[in-house]
Amino acid sequence: MVKIAEEWLNSCSGCEIAILNIGDVLVDLLPSLEFVHIPVLIDKKYYGQTGEGTELDIPEAVVGIVSGGVKNEEHLEVLKKMRERVQILIALGTCATDGGIPALANMYSNDEIRDFVYRDSPTTEAGPNPDVKGNHIPDMLESCSALDEHVKVDLKLPGCPPHPDWIAAAILSLLDEKNVLELPEKSVCDTCPTQRERKKSMGDIRRMLETPDYDPEKPISEMRCLLEQGFMCLGPVTKAGCSGMTGEAPRCISARVPCRGCYGPVRDDRIPLVDYVGALATVGYDPSRMPDRRGYLCRFNGGHGVLKKLG
Ligand code: SF4
Ligand code: SF4
Ligand code: SF4
Repeated sequence: MVKIAEEWLNSCSGCEIAILNIGDVLVDLLPSLEFVHIPVLIDKKYYGQTGEGTELDIPEAVVGIVSGGVKNEEHLEVLKKMRERVQILIALGTCATDGGIPALANMYSNDEIRDFVYRDSPTTEAGPNPDVKGNHIPDMLESCSALDEHVKVDLKLPGCPPHPDWIAAAILSLLDEKNVLELPEKSVCDTCPTQRERKKSMGDIRRMLETPDYDPEKPISEMRCLLEQGFMCLGPVTKAGCSGMTGEAPRCISARVPCRGCYGPVRDDRIPLVDYVGALATVGYDPSRMPDRRGYLCRFNGGHGVLKKLG
């Protein structure tokens, strides 16, 4: 029986849904697993069920799974406690591995964020106002960061959310060392069946809302590469794996939609903002014509100091 503790920090809960989406395999695994802490499913308070505790209470476990990045003092405290209490820590999802969508906040100051979210936004007018005494909002940290910027991470499962196949494979590998976990190392392009003509595209950059050119009666393998068609497909700089172990084309490409980069950079040391400029040059686009380059190319990987407020 392997004890598992799960936590969510700066998270949308999509990663937790991905755990449930393991489906039948999870049902088979459950007799070997004991979830001792998983706030999305089990009502377990940090300081005792009635707030009677004085210390953050997270039970010991062999495996800790943490989704979401770190943006405030509470996230950091919970993450450090998880690290203390578990033997193996898994960063689940691109928020945890690279900052994810919430790390777009790194382009703004904390005051700008508070103004937008709590003070000026008409939709949150009646919400928690940080200026009102008693409305406690945990203090924000300077930036939104990935887990490994604060603690040692033993395994990273990127994806927004990660494909359930990889979560199941990771758990299986922990239950039996004969189940070797082999995560994809390639790029989305490396697993994409579209046709590349490898000649410069002379058209304009096309808006994502436009429909690509393809014949719906024909398979993906007969559609021209979306980047060559003028869409800013981030396949060249994004880690593969979003179709799990199905062997199918990358998920968005299967839907004839360009890759937005949700699996994060191909390798930890790569920065899509830099690498994509090269990919654009090969198809003949001028990167300076790309609107909101930083936000677009770092949409999922603004942690690790990649995105900062300019000026
Ligand atoms: S990686 Fe995506 S699905 Fe997971 S918590 Fe972040 S935003 Fe949600
Ligand atoms: S750029 Fe996009 S459409 Fe083209 S090969 Fe790469 S993933 Fe496929
Ligand atoms: S194609 Fe790109 S954006 Fe779409 S699911 Fe795969 S990695 Fe994510």
